Formats: sequence, structure tokens, C-alpha cells
Amino acid sequence: MTTKKITILPGDGIGQEVTAQAVKVLQTVANQYDMNLELQEKPMGGTAYDLTGSPLPDETLQACKNSDAVLLGAVGGPQWESLDISLRPEKGLLRLRSELGLYANLRPAQIYGDLVEASTLKREVVEGTDIMVIRELTGGIYFGEPRGVEMRGNERVGVNTLVYSESEIRRIAIMGFEIARKRFKKLTSVDKHNVLEATILWREVVTEVSKDYPDIALNHMYVDNAAMQLIRDPKQFDTIVTTNMFGDILSDGAAMLTGSLGMLPSASIGGKIGLYEPVHGSAPDIQGQDLANPLATILSVGMMFRYSFDLTEADEKIQKAVVTTLDQYRTGDIMTKGKTQIGCREMGERVIENL
Ligand code: NAD
Repeated sequence: MTTKKITILPGDGIGQEVTAQAVKVLQTVANQYDMNLELQEKPMGGTAYDLTGSPLPDETLQACKNSDAVLLGAVGGPQWESLDISLRPEKGLLRLRSELGLYANLRPAQIYGDLVEASTLKREVVEGTDIMVIRELTGGIYFGEPRGVEMRGNERVGVNTLVYSESEIRRIAIMGFEIARKRFKKLTSVDKHNVLEATILWREVVTEVSKDYPDIALNHMYVDNAAMQLIRDPKQFDTIVTTNMFGDILSDGAAMLTGSLGMLPSASIGGKIGLYEPVHGSAPDIQGQDLANPLATILSVGMMFRYSFDLTEADEKIQKAVVTTLDQYRTGDIMTKGKTQIGCREMGERVIENL
């Protein structure tokens, strides 16, 4: 029997409610695969700041570093917005990602069952969409130096730098090909090769790496075209790999094809330990009312089984249980006529019944 150590960071707002349900799913599936779990819960975000004065206390960081994987709910809330930027909940999350060396962010955009009605696009355009956006997470313009706002002559000038080294591009490209290989064997690399030198190098390195993956069909696309194609014909995409900023924007666009924030999981990987979290925030407007949709966090647990524990089948099982549950039951955010509306807790229980 294998043992996995998992740190649970419920965080703030609905983070507490959705992780409670996801942990139950985690336990159930681990039992089915004869996996022993050592779970430890630690404070993170605004809740941690209130307890310790830091949004990522050392004890929490150490616990994460000593784990096999980390599950996070969400961080943030209005009560912490006036704090100095270095103490804000989001800062704790950025630091955690960088401390764990997570250079790749994976965001699937997939339509589950008849949730196609939740999309703002026409059924025939989005039905069957299944895209994985892989965003480079620790380099590019969000981290490049020099940066800042300075005086030049008699006016202020804002500066940021887009910088990518060959090795940074190569490792994310390899990740892209490896993931495409486990999906439908098509990889689209998104850049701005016609204008930005850093992405001329990006395209060159991705093309070099492609020589090791003759079974994967690679195409290159400019980011402006990719934004348009995602809305025009999303089904042409399988796996997309792109820079930090382009990925930030495109992954939100791709995710919204599915029309529902409460359904979107994510994984940040690359280091020894993966971090799994829903895409949504702490939703203070519905906190503590048993209204939150826990499915994004439950699907994030599925990604943990797939990417940290190499148990693809367990992820598929969780996805199937979610689809079956949605046939009959919905939380308020995805409620439609003919279904039964339930709360966060009951949604967790129904998914477990279908496992
Ligand atoms: P949000 O994602 O928390 O909420 C946006 C809207 O979607 C709200 O109306 C909310 O009720 C609804 N919603 C979100 N998740 C839901 C779910 N699981 N079930 C049902 N409804 C859901 O975004 P926001 O309101 O812009 O931000 C609130 C706080 O969360 C802010 O402090 C923000 O900084 C933080 N935030 C954190 C993360 C993160 O932890 N990764 C991500 C985004 C925002």
C-alpha cells in the first residue's frame, strides 16, 4: 500500500467549504486504489494572516514542501484588501508557487454533459470542446527585469521586460508535448513571432523540441489569432502551450467557453510537488451559506491523481462521477430547469455516491 502526504490549504471564504467536500472525494478514491493518505491542514491567505501575521506562514510552507501534493481552496477577501501588498493573501499564493518551483499551469476547459447550456456560445460551436491550456508560470514579462515606473525627461515611463531563456522554453515545451501525447496528440504553440524577439526564440525552441515528438502534430499560432479561433472554432484545439502573459489571458478565455467558474479545476506542476486548486476565488458573497459549487475543487483532486500520482484512471472516474451527478443535481450557479438544486455539502455527497 502506498502512502501519500497531502497538505490541505482551505484558505479563505468558500475555500473552506469546497475543500471539505474535495477531501471527502480524495479519501474515497484513495481507498478504492489502496492508497493510504496522510492529510494535514494548514492556514493560508487572509486566515493565516489573521492568525500569524503572514499570508504564508513558515509552518505552512514547510508542510507543503514535505508533501507529495497540495490542495488549495481559495484566498482573499475584502477585509484584507487594504493590507500592504506584501501581506495580501494573493502574495502568499504567488510565493508558494515560486517556492515549489511550479513553472507550468494546466487549465483544462471541458464541457461536462449538458452544461453546454451554461456557455454563452452556440451549442454547435462549443459542444465537445476539450482543451488543455498550459501556461508558463514563472518567467516572461511578469518577472522580467528591468521593471518599474521611472522619470525620463519630464514624464513618467512604465517599463516591463519580456525575457525567456532557451532552457525555460525547452522545459515548458517538453511539458506541452508530453501532455499532448496523453491527450489527442495535437499541440498548438502560441506566440507573437512577428513582433517579439523573445517569441521568435520561443518558436525556434519549440520547433527543435518537436523533433523528439514525431507522433505529435505541432502548429504555431499568433496570440491574436488564437484568441479569435478559441471563440470561432474551439474544437480545433487539443493542447495549447504558451507564455505566462498570453496563457493568463487565453486560459480565462478558454475557460469561459464552458460558462461556469464553479466547474474549472487547475494544476500547477513542474517541481517535485504539485499544487491543485479551483480557478475561482473565495467568493465572499456566498461564503458560509452552503451555496458554493465544490466541483472545480473535486475535479482538481482528479488532476492530482493524474499528474502527481500517475493514476489517470482515478481522474477519469472522478470526472465520470461528476457528469453522472450533474444529470440530476445542480448547485445554484449552474442550476437549470428540470434539475434539482442542492448545496455544497450535498453535491459532495452525491459525487461520492456516484464513485
Ligand atoms: P470569485 O471567483 O471569488 O467570484 C466571482 C463570482 O463567481 C462571485 O459572484 C461568486 O459568488 C461566484 N463564484 C465563484 N466561485 C464559485 C463557486 N465555486 N460556486 C458558486 N459561485 C462561485 O472572484 P472575485 O469575486 O473577483 O474575488 C473574490 C476574492 O477572491 C478576492 O479577494 C480575489 O482576490 C480572490 N481570488 C482568489 C483566487 C485564488 O485564490 N486563486 C482567484 C481569484 C480571485
